[in-house]
Amino acid sequence: MDKQMLAMLVCPRCQGKLKYDRERGELKCLFDGLAFPVDDEIPVMLEEQARQMDVDEKLDKPRRGTGETWDGAS
Ligand SMILES: [Zn+2]
Repeated sequence: MDKQMLAMLVCPRCQGKLKYDRERGELKCLFDGLAFPVDDEIPVMLEEQARQMDVDEKLDKPRRGTGETWDGAS
């Protein structure tokens, strides 16, 4: 992900800054609790495509355990 590109991106809902989660390949708005997928280096800035983050993620806590999966279904 290009840093300059990342700096230009804002959350479509609150116009706030996004945090790039390299591990998951997602752009996160901690304010709205939305995680936007990055498809082949192209961020998908659509609320309909965004994943709702869980409470721990919103607080930006380190995740416990390993092998956590997300099936993308809300
Ligand atoms: Zn937002």
